[in-house]
Amino acid sequence: MGFVDLENLAKYIEFPDAAMEVLGQPQRQTIMSLRLKLSETESISAKAYVVYHSLLRGPAKGGIRMAPDVTLEHTAHLAELMTWKTALMKLPFGGGKSGIAIDPQPLTHFIKASFLRDWIMQTRLDLEKGIYVPAPDMGTGPSDMAVIFGETHIPECVTGKPIGVGGLPGRLEATGRGVATTSRLAAEQILQRPLNELTVAIQGFGNVGSFAALFCHEMGFKVVAVNDIRGGIHNPEGFDVPRLMRHVAETRSVVGFPGDSISGEELLHLPVDVLIPAAMGDVIHQKNANQIQAKIIVEAANGPVTQEADAILNDRGVQTVPDILANAGGVSASYVEWHHSKSGGMTTKQQVLDNLDALMTDAWNRTRAAQERCKCDLRTAAQLVSAEELISSLRDRNWI
Ligand code: GLU
Repeated sequence: MGFVDLENLAKYIEFPDAAMEVLGQPQRQTIMSLRLKLSETESISAKAYVVYHSLLRGPAKGGIRMAPDVTLEHTAHLAELMTWKTALMKLPFGGGKSGIAIDPQPLTHFIKASFLRDWIMQTRLDLEKGIYVPAPDMGTGPSDMAVIFGETHIPECVTGKPIGVGGLPGRLEATGRGVATTSRLAAEQILQRPLNELTVAIQGFGNVGSFAALFCHEMGFKVVAVNDIRGGIHNPEGFDVPRLMRHVAETRSVVGFPGDSISGEELLHLPVDVLIPAAMGDVIHQKNANQIQAKIIVEAANGPVTQEADAILNDRGVQTVPDILANAGGVSASYVEWHHSKSGGMTTKQQVLDNLDALMTDAWNRTRAAQERCKCDLRTAAQLVSAEELISSLRDRNWI
C-alpha cells in the first residue's frame, strides 16, 4: 500500500476500490547502479532509484534527490507525494522522483556532472520521450539541470534550469514564495491577526527556507528564528532577512549573524505563531510533537511531520498546511517553465510570481472549502481535493 491513507479518504468521499488499487502503488520503479572511474585507483559508485508513481495525468514530474540515505522506499514515498501535489494544483503531470544515494557535498562540480551523466544515460529514453521530467530536489540545483539539458538538447525535458539555458525567471524563488503565500493565507484565515504581530521560525535555510524567509519578511511577518546544518539563531524582534541572506551568501551559513544561538530542537519548540520546517523529512515526530508550541505548521519540506506526530498535533488543535499544498509552488512554476520550453514563450519574474500567488490561493481556497465541507484537518482536505481530480482522471482514461 502507499503512504497516503486512502481508507481515511474513503470515509469522506466515494473512493472506488479500483482507484485505491491504482493509486496505492507505484506504476514503475527502477533501481540502477551508477559508477564513475576517477583515476586508476579511485572510483565512485551509488545506487539510484527512479520511481514513477503515476503517469495518469501526464509525464511523471518530480525532482532528483541526491543524499546518502535515500532508498527505494523513500523515493517511492516522495514520488507518491508528487502525484497528489500535481493533481491538487490541477497540473497535467503525474508524479515521479529520483533518488541518487550519494552525498553530493564533497563532489566537485565536474565530478558531480560526470556522475549525473551516467544517470542520464540510463534514463535517456524516458527523458527524450517526455515520460519523466526531472527538476531539482535536495542535493541538486539548476546547474545539474543544465547538465541534463546539455545531454539531451530538449528544453522541455527538464525544469529548474538556469535562466541562461531556458530556465524560468522566478523558478528558483517559487517554492519559497508558495510557502510564504500559504503561510499568509493560513495566518489571515486561521489566526485572524495582522501579519506584523505574528512570529515565524524556519528550520533550514537552503533554497526553500531562505526564500520562504524573505517573502514572509516582505509580507510583514517577524522571522524570529532560522537555522542550517551549522547552527541556528534567534532574535525575538525579528531578523532583517535581506541582510541575513547577504550574510549567508558570504559565509554559507546563518551562524555568525547577530542573534542568540539556538539548537535545532529548541527552534522547533519555540512559542511562535508559524513553524516552517524547510529541511528534511520526519523532523516532527512522536517524541517531540507535544513540545511544538506553534499554532500553525507549514510543511515547506516534503514529509517533515510523521503520521504519528500528525495525529498528536491534530488532537492538540495545531493546524498543519500539508507539503502537497505548501511546497507546490516549485512544481507549479516547473509547469510554466515546461510550457514555455515547449512553446518558446517568455515571461518575467513578476508575472511568474503573480501567477503563482493566484495558483496557490486557488488551491488553498479549494482545500479550505473541502475542510469546511468535511470537518477535517487540512492534510485530509488537500488529499480529498486531489483524490477527486485523480479519480476523475482515472475515469477519463478508462483505467477504472
Ligand atoms: N522537488 C520539488 C518538489 O518536491 C519540485 C519538483 C518539480 O518541479 O518537478 O516539489
